[in-house]
Amino acid sequence: MSEYSFKEAVCQETLACYSEKLFAGTSGNLSCYDRANGLIYITPGSYPYEIMKPEDIMVIDIDGNVVEGPHKPSSEWRLHTWIYKKMPQVNAVVHTHSPYATSFAVVHKTIPVILIEMVPFIGGDVPVADFGVPGTDRVGETAAETLIEHERNACLMANHGVVAVGDSLPRAHVRATYVEDAATIYHHAVTTGMDIHLISEEDIALMKKR
Ligand SMILES: [Zn+2]
Repeated sequence: MSEYSFKEAVCQETLACYSEKLFAGTSGNLSCYDRANGLIYITPGSYPYEIMKPEDIMVIDIDGNVVEGPHKPSSEWRLHTWIYKKMPQVNAVVHTHSPYATSFAVVHKTIPVILIEMVPFIGGDVPVADFGVPGTDRVGETAAETLIEHERNACLMANHGVVAVGDSLPRAHVRATYVEDAATIYHHAVTTGMDIHLISEEDIALMKKR
């Protein structure tokens, strides 16, 4: 893939996430990692999505040094580099503030396995990573630790949002979408006041086998 194609892919997925309302204002950030060249293509910090073009996507190295681009990289670049360093199978990171999922991040509540999609796409329930002050290493450290410990493709970030990962941007994006979908449906199910039935551990194991 050419450098422009990477920028185009990041821009396209970002605008798709924005139109799905997975983040508001200038929040949220996406990246993909070209491991062969050690380059990370990441959204610029505090830049309006309405005018974002592939040329606005920043290129940084694994230590956050700017290689190319007209802006500053996302202030959460450490979230991305921590995950890329700790998870060698991951080449794309999608960070959202999607409202239903983030509401569970605010109450520090794991989203249990209520939908079949959660097993293949997320790997099970959606755990909550400890709080990290935005822009610090701690944000990336706790997110990476939680994803690895629970063997998940997505987790909540306490009082902050969602992070989803994958070997490609479309895969990380769809996982972020399923986190919000599960959170929305769980929220509506809880508000009925009726009993919630989770998918059993046994059935989760059977689904993972298939
Ligand atoms: Zn954020």
